[in-house]
Amino acid sequence: MKHFDAVVIGAGPGGYEAAIQLGKAGVKTLLIDKSKERIGGTCLNEGCISTKNYLESAGYASKAPYFQECGLDMSINGFDLARLREKTVSLKNELRSGVVWQLDGAKVEMMYGFASFVDAHTLDVSGETISFDKCIIATGAKVREVSALPLDGKRIVSSSDLFELETLPKSIAIVGGGAIGCEFATFFSAFGVEVTLIARGTQLLSAEDEDVAKALLRAFKKNGIKVMTSSAVKKVEITEQGVELDVSGEIEEKIKCELVLCAIGRDPNTEDISIDNAGVQRDAKGFITVNDAFQTVQKHIYAIGDCIDTPAYAHTAYAEAKIAAVNIINGSETVNTHITPSTIFTNPQIASCGLREKEAKEQGIAIEVKKAFFKANAKAKINGDDSGFVKMIVSPQNDIILGASIIGVEATEVIHEMVIAVEKKLTASELTSMIHVHPSVSEIIRYL
Ligand SMILES: Cc1cc2nc3c(=O)[nH]c(=O)nc-3n(C[C@H](O)[C@H](O)[C@H](O)COP(=O)(O)OP(=O)(O)OC[C@H]3O[C@@H](n4cnc5c(N)ncnc54)[C@H](O)[C@@H]3O)c2cc1C
Repeated sequence: MKHFDAVVIGAGPGGYEAAIQLGKAGVKTLLIDKSKERIGGTCLNEGCISTKNYLESAGYASKAPYFQECGLDMSINGFDLARLREKTVSLKNELRSGVVWQLDGAKVEMMYGFASFVDAHTLDVSGETISFDKCIIATGAKVREVSALPLDGKRIVSSSDLFELETLPKSIAIVGGGAIGCEFATFFSAFGVEVTLIARGTQLLSAEDEDVAKALLRAFKKNGIKVMTSSAVKKVEITEQGVELDVSGEIEEKIKCELVLCAIGRDPNTEDISIDNAGVQRDAKGFITVNDAFQTVQKHIYAIGDCIDTPAYAHTAYAEAKIAAVNIINGSETVNTHITPSTIFTNPQIASCGLREKEAKEQGIAIEVKKAFFKANAKAKINGDDSGFVKMIVSPQNDIILGASIIGVEATEVIHEMVIAVEKKLTASELTSMIHVHPSVSEIIRYL
């Protein structure tokens, strides 16, 4: 039986980052995933990288009318989805080799197979037994499935299945008004696909600021996306031409489309790994329960990333991986003191961090709201989109910045300044008086 100081299950952003940190510190580390192609996890294979590469092309398509305005006599003579798919596969391969290079450099051993616990110090990996002193579970999450929308990979598909498409559908119904649903609505509508977005909640992106969600709704409607909020699919029928959905909510309607994307959420991958054998616990939703130092009830077993109940982002997984690795290396119980920015790569982009206005109201926290609009920002105009705004939440007692929400061009970049401000407890006057480059999108912060 092979023995390791540390074993990491899952080679997504959480798992590979933790393994690299451990390996670099001289810890004899094994990283396990189902296959070599899974290195990079959801993020690389069917999440962040694939979606953002697809959305980049969508962004070019959406900008075509603006290029004309700028004197560029360009026309789009079609869109070859199969080619974009190929380009995405080669990008993924390139990035995966970068991760493998880092793992090799850190002398991390790799093993391919399905890992499950035999006991609190032993794993079965597709028939081979491995023992360990410490373990990090980083098994991520999987597409949520519901019987009302049975996935068949052809007419009713998951976000992962979409990356297998070689041609665009004429129409798509997207069920789910979260980040994944909204990003795919952006992608398909940019290429003229008829998009219907069906959301259960009263607003899109239920966790985000209400004004931001309203602005996104306006932008979606302007781009021809049909949005049905407070709505649910009651019946699904596969026909020769596509799918018919009975949708009920504010209005009852039959939606006919070629394809349905089911984007109703993701569930942690914790069911099949026999964690009971290790004495590790899960909560009612299936998330592994951990303390602030990412230790499970078995203190030598840690869990990070999408398999625990923290924001499901690759950047969260990276941060948690570093902390769990440090705790293993130093025998410490360091906790995560960082705030997690939320980002949605719609058109326009959305990002937020810290306290949101509605949370402050719900929690009875006194706040001052400062708002600035991209209409007054020269660089946003130069970029061809001056829609949107930045909303900053400030404490009226001491001017300290508590949070921010942004919708607009480059929101997913501008948010970093706000992350620093919230994390380092800067005051609004400290942040706004900083010299910002002119013209830049970020100088919108100067107007707050
Ligand atoms: C469509 C989509 C778009 C997204 N866009 C973004 C984005 O723009 N930005 C962002 O930050 N996040 C994004 N995310 C979320 C991001 O992908 C995840 O938060 C991130 O991948 C979580 O990392 P992880 O390491 O916890 O798990 P994962 O990346 O899911 O990796 C888990 C790995 O564990 C392996 N595994 C599972 N069980 C076992 C087992 N028993 N044995 C061996 N191996 C196992 C899996 O094969 C997998 O490779 C997106 C997700 C989706 C689905």
